[in-house]
Amino acid sequence: MKFTKPFSTPDPIPEKGIENANALMESGHLFRYNPLDIDENHRPTGISQEKLYSEASLLEQEFCEYTGHKYAVALNSCGSAMFLAMKAAGVEHGDGVFTNAFTFTAVPSSIVHAGGVPVYLECNADYLLDIEDFKQKIKQNPEVRYLLLSYMRGHISDVGQIKAICDDNDICLIEDCAHSLGVRWKDEDSDEASHIGHHGAAACFSAQSNKLINSGEGGILVTNDPAIAVYSILAAGSYEQLYQQHLARPKNELFEEVKRDVPNFSLRMSNLTASILRPQIPELDEKISSYNDMYTTLEELFDGIQHVETPEILPEVSRVGDSFQFNLVGMTAGEIQEFLDHSHEQGIEMQIFGHNDNARYFRNWKYSYHETPSLPQTEEIITAACDFRIPLTFNRSDLSMITEIIRDLLNHVTTSSPSTAHA
Ligand SMILES: *Cc1c(COP(=O)(O)O)cnc(C)c1O
Repeated sequence: MKFTKPFSTPDPIPEKGIENANALMESGHLFRYNPLDIDENHRPTGISQEKLYSEASLLEQEFCEYTGHKYAVALNSCGSAMFLAMKAAGVEHGDGVFTNAFTFTAVPSSIVHAGGVPVYLECNADYLLDIEDFKQKIKQNPEVRYLLLSYMRGHISDVGQIKAICDDNDICLIEDCAHSLGVRWKDEDSDEASHIGHHGAAACFSAQSNKLINSGEGGILVTNDPAIAVYSILAAGSYEQLYQQHLARPKNELFEEVKRDVPNFSLRMSNLTASILRPQIPELDEKISSYNDMYTTLEELFDGIQHVETPEILPEVSRVGDSFQFNLVGMTAGEIQEFLDHSHEQGIEMQIFGHNDNARYFRNWKYSYHETPSLPQTEEIITAACDFRIPLTFNRSDLSMITEIIRDLLNHVTTSSPSTAHA
């Protein structure tokens, strides 16, 4: 049995995005601070042609309307957003920054970029930050003032409790929401769920092709803190009076007060990127529900498979299941490798996070430490944690076939002895 559909298929750009991009290219106004030629009908009343807002500014405003944040800055990547968030929050050369040991290399890299030094925290079998380990590391590293909390694959740690611990210990929280756009969090004592990204000083989202919105590359920093917004807008590359072209921005006086003290890192998003992203936002919730249908189906199909455990989500979280993870239990490293090899042969594009050339394995982030950190719990989990995307091109029978292949392979590699496994 061989599965033949690709797992890597990104979501297509909606027709409207293609139209927007074409119109923009004809106009040549790709730089976000070039005013855009929109026809008379779309021009807000009382605003002259010169003052029209660009695609990037409109995206920032629309993104804020979606997530409920006050301010947004459109950037070239989520890595840039995390870098700016840390600079804005005050990270200086040599400062320690707590972060997840289970995340993607862009996260510790952004800390290194900001001059910081990552201090890694353990995860648990549900891929969430281990709260006890966090408390212990705070005791061991009392000088560390920042936490860059990463929600890998949209798995949301107990951010309510984490925020409380941060407040008690004077630690500034920044949220890496790269892969969790559309996830909602509902505090026990509140009636309504809100978008993830409201617990920290800033939250950072990605528009890289494998995330919930797709422009190939792109990032958005959101915050409710005017000082962080001002720094991030300026440092992204807004000079002179250009900040006035931002719709989702704080008061002008705040920019004038600090603009001569903020460097320009040139991390802006181009209007072309923004033009293809904007039409994806109104479609997000429908897309999320398609993803979640597939996720729930897979969860049901996987139920009861030997050697497989699927992660639990916290009751506060409404997830976005555009990818699927599970842990292999009771298997040797050799059996896991054999399972992975056979899966690939049968067309299952699956990865193991803790594999020797995986960018999600902390042993491959040598640039970030002198000595390999001791993270036995994370190591044990991610070396047996499988991951694959669930593209929208998959249907129910695809999911059944994937499950069947995985079930059969697990059965095969755990019952045959190594010498006969390839027979
Ligand atoms: C993709 C991703 C990033 C990096 O985003 P870029 O836009 O590629 O810089 C960071 N963190 C997580 C959890 C991601 O999934």
